[in-house]
Amino acid sequence: MKKNVFNFNSKLTKKFSSPKNLLGGKGANLAEMGRLGFPVPPGFTISTDACKQFYKNKKKINSKLVYEFKKELKMVENNTGKKFGDLKNPLLVSVRSGARVSMPGMMDTILNLGLNDKTVVGLANKTKNMRFAKDSYRRFIQMYSNVVLGIESYNFEDLIENYKLTKGVLLDTELDENDWDGLINDFKKVVKEKTKKIFPQNVFDQLEGAITAVFLSWDSQRAKVYRKINQIPSDWGTAVNVQSMVFGNMGKDCATGVVFTRNPSNGKNEIYGEYLINAQGEDVVAGTRTPRYITENSKRESNSKEISMEKLFPNIFKELKKKLKTLEKYYKDMQDVEFTVENKKLWILQTRSGKRTAKSAIKIASDMFKEKLITKKEVILRIDPNSLDTLLHPTLDESVKLKIIGKGLPASPGAASGKVVFTSEEAVRLNEMMQDSILVRVETSPEDIHGMHSAKGILTARGGMTSHAAVVARGMGRPCVSGSSDIEIDYVNKIFRTKDQEVKEGDTITIDGSSGKIIIGEVKTVKPEISGDFSKIMKWSDEIRKLKIRTNAETPLDSKTARDFGAEGIGLCRTEHMFFDEDRILSVREMILSKTKQDRDKALAKILPLQKNDFIEIFKIMSGLPVTVRLLDPPLHEFLPKNEKEIDDVSNSLKMPIQEVKSRVAELHEQNPMLGHRGCRLGISYPEIYEMQCRAIFEALVECKKKKIKSILPEIMIPLVSTEAEIKIMKDLVIKVARQVQNENNVKIEFLVGTMIELPRAAIKAKDIAKHAEFFSFGTNDLTQTTFGISRDDSGKFLNDYIENKIFDIDPFISIDDGVGDLIEIAATRGKQQNKKIKLGICGEHGGDPKSIHFCSKTGLDYVSCSPYRVPVARLAAAQAELKK
Ligand code: PEP
Ligand code: MG
Repeated sequence: MKKNVFNFNSKLTKKFSSPKNLLGGKGANLAEMGRLGFPVPPGFTISTDACKQFYKNKKKINSKLVYEFKKELKMVENNTGKKFGDLKNPLLVSVRSGARVSMPGMMDTILNLGLNDKTVVGLANKTKNMRFAKDSYRRFIQMYSNVVLGIESYNFEDLIENYKLTKGVLLDTELDENDWDGLINDFKKVVKEKTKKIFPQNVFDQLEGAITAVFLSWDSQRAKVYRKINQIPSDWGTAVNVQSMVFGNMGKDCATGVVFTRNPSNGKNEIYGEYLINAQGEDVVAGTRTPRYITENSKRESNSKEISMEKLFPNIFKELKKKLKTLEKYYKDMQDVEFTVENKKLWILQTRSGKRTAKSAIKIASDMFKEKLITKKEVILRIDPNSLDTLLHPTLDESVKLKIIGKGLPASPGAASGKVVFTSEEAVRLNEMMQDSILVRVETSPEDIHGMHSAKGILTARGGMTSHAAVVARGMGRPCVSGSSDIEIDYVNKIFRTKDQEVKEGDTITIDGSSGKIIIGEVKTVKPEISGDFSKIMKWSDEIRKLKIRTNAETPLDSKTARDFGAEGIGLCRTEHMFFDEDRILSVREMILSKTKQDRDKALAKILPLQKNDFIEIFKIMSGLPVTVRLLDPPLHEFLPKNEKEIDDVSNSLKMPIQEVKSRVAELHEQNPMLGHRGCRLGISYPEIYEMQCRAIFEALVECKKKKIKSILPEIMIPLVSTEAEIKIMKDLVIKVARQVQNENNVKIEFLVGTMIELPRAAIKAKDIAKHAEFFSFGTNDLTQTTFGISRDDSGKFLNDYIENKIFDIDPFISIDDGVGDLIEIAATRGKQQNKKIKLGICGEHGGDPKSIHFCSKTGLDYVSCSPYRVPVARLAAAQAELKK
């Protein structure tokens, strides 16, 4: 029968082709470290397959699994010389989750399992430390009750706080064994009251309960949100790691810590980490105590007065450093390691590839290439294209005088301004209203994941660089300042205070996650540029990739930004967007509302010079490159006048009575404008509109030629085509205008005519359409909308339910669905059958999504076109796609 539980020393795991899929990241690495002879506390991993079976088995653990883990537990007892539930020398274990990829803080962990009213005495006798044993027991009751029995932690924390108040002490460490004994009794009463049962005393029941809870936490709300944000499939499941406990809280010669083999914030090749003396791991990651620095260097740099681990335990520090080097060499990547020192002995509890900012990812990959640890190809594959986004966004303008009100740890770089909010719910609410917020919390907990995602930045009063807030913020690319002792938060009155400033909810602040500064008000930011290692990696990507990268842009500013970021032309210039400005939209309204051709010609004559000048500007910026201009495609409802003032304005300029404007608006009203009189249908009804636009393009081209500006190649694109006849009529129109402008100016005009493929019929009849098209550009926004029959404007209301119910892994408007993908493949194949040279590209939002870029590369498209800030993302993703072919 198939095995589901594997000891860390098991030889079997060596043979797995992808151990992480079965053992989870943490389990696979523990097994590897076990084999390499690292000081890893003995334990075993329950596989992700067991998790899948658990869900199939109505969320129950089957007896075969119980039999298997009890057998492996025996091995752990043999290795440690301790016994589970023994009264003299009890074995205690930790029970932790571990998915294929790390999901920090999103699932559950239980420590000190195996303690009960009797074994706690055994532990005390064995360690000759009654205080430690009682402290461990109360921690276990707290954690188990919260995670397994679902009792909220504040029930216990309030008891501790009140007890400390009565005793007149500040810190937990000031409580002695008798204090903990009293609290243990109080805790057990809470459990009895809330669950109507006594706290479980049978250690095997405890273990089964904990394993069940970890499996269940795979489907917790916060894990689901995290999976959605990070595009992690919901059917992977989590493994469970059961490991014998070692103690960092047994006295002053004990410690626990988290350490990175390189600096995760800036990528420097130096050990970076934090530790706490006399504590357990959870104290470091939960941010309940602000930890100390591991190295002398980082202690000095951050002006900390607390002693570093390097100074306090020099020998252990040396041993740790050596181990870290070995791990990094073995995994060829920066590692994030958890360790414990128990009575001066070092134990490694886990290692994984460390989360890092985009900036450090780039530096670490380039440095490792220089150190000959990884190849150029590995450098390219190592960087998450989506993470580059954070490097392309503005940083603080240092020339502006800042009103700094406090400082904290620079936990995740980038600057952000927004209104202060104290709850995740408020951050989500403001985000829905398109308002920026900064989430201010004493410390964040995994429940805050949705708030952290909705906020523009995160500020916490407690917690270090490796606290949950810092790790999650870095993963999401959100700026974060953590552990700021300068701020004091008052949740009740919704304010925070610094030495001389009071900040209320709704006040605007700015945080700089690169320097740790907290600033009052909004601060100007500066545009980043691609330089140094970043630019080198972009150059390498360009050498590897075959796909061209263009941009979607219709303003000179966007075109310039995109070209600076490396765009090789424009793949979509949405001409209707050129009229969103208040003073221009009026002319478009006049044009739409005109009843006669004469009136329409008048409105068009006003638009022509504006449009021509816009094109000249854009053509100059894109000189030497192709520019795809799409003829007007306005869903009418976006352009019709809506309020009294807008109606008034149109009435005045058209000299049309208000009533008549209103009735014309009513006449033009469409039930379903997305499927209405838009795209080339407008060009068929009113050819003069498209004629004017072609004239503007060609006259702009002539003007550029006359000014000796290196020419662009205009690609005139017809939107929303579904039949051969449509494209033929439109192509003839474009050629007619081109000839006219050519003859008027005596200048040769070169151009291409093509179409968008954004309707299923067009994809299926691509062979016919290709008779008249020199290029196809896949408009995957509309193609997704029309393939599914899901309105792109209304899908937000129900797509979440589809994702929660696992109907979609991911929103099909973000990443290309495989059904839509089939249509693209059909269109590409049939188009090429007709015209071998047909140029193929994509210009829907998917053009900037790495997964969709892989699809485009595989399907043999010539280019992808995306928004300016996604261009570097697409350059890297296209290189990765090529390498993975
Ligand atoms: C598309 O439909 O994918 C497209 C690019 O056009 P628009 O978003 O302007 O409809
Ligand atoms: Mg479209």
